[in-house]
Amino acid sequence: MAAFFIKKLTMLENYIKYLNFLDGKLSKFFTEQKPYIFCKEGCSRCCKHAQFPYTSIEMTYLLTGLLNLDRETRNIVTQNVVKILEEESSFEGEKFRYDCPFLIQDSCSVYQYRGILCRTFGLPAQANDGALLMPFCCYEGLNYSNVFDIDKNKVSEVKVKAVNSEFEPCGFNISYEYLTNPDIGREFNFSFGERKPLIYWFKQKGKY
Ligand code: SF4
Ligand code: SF4
Repeated sequence: MAAFFIKKLTMLENYIKYLNFLDGKLSKFFTEQKPYIFCKEGCSRCCKHAQFPYTSIEMTYLLTGLLNLDRETRNIVTQNVVKILEEESSFEGEKFRYDCPFLIQDSCSVYQYRGILCRTFGLPAQANDGALLMPFCCYEGLNYSNVFDIDKNKVSEVKVKAVNSEFEPCGFNISYEYLTNPDIGREFNFSFGERKPLIYWFKQKGKY
């Protein structure tokens, strides 16, 4: 039994090392792309109306964050989860979408423990053909909207010149599939495990 917990703990420590590595890269990307980024405190559109995929190791770390919250905040998250699960139980469509239960007053209550996808919100991804895939909020007047021409579906050179940035807008290899690739887990000595939308982890575990 002790060996099982030690193995779990070591996996989590190795996952945190991977997160530190990833955060270092993402922080550099966000810094370079700063003239195009409009993320600010209180903006939480990317935490709403989505599915939020989580692998097993991400979920374990997220639950560590939940346990570290003060009782009052933890209760709010718990109530959010219960409410979402109630809505889900009567949902009949294909993809159930919801606001993240950890979002409280437009702020992430478990920021340090948030999942991998949450860390990449707001950056453009690069498609296989080299095209930039803008974050959804670009189309809502936020990230990259100052240089992206929606009608032409491409970055406007004229607008980029006007921004006068040292760095061009560019896409990054930040797909969730890539960042949770089993090879990465092997490299850092942990396993991502099963993947499913955040709320279904609570459903299966019956935690609430
Ligand atoms: S975990 Fe935090 S950052 Fe991620 S979707 Fe939820 S509230 Fe947003
Ligand atoms: S990624 Fe977009 S929606 Fe999310 S905080 Fe940044 S600007 Fe707001």
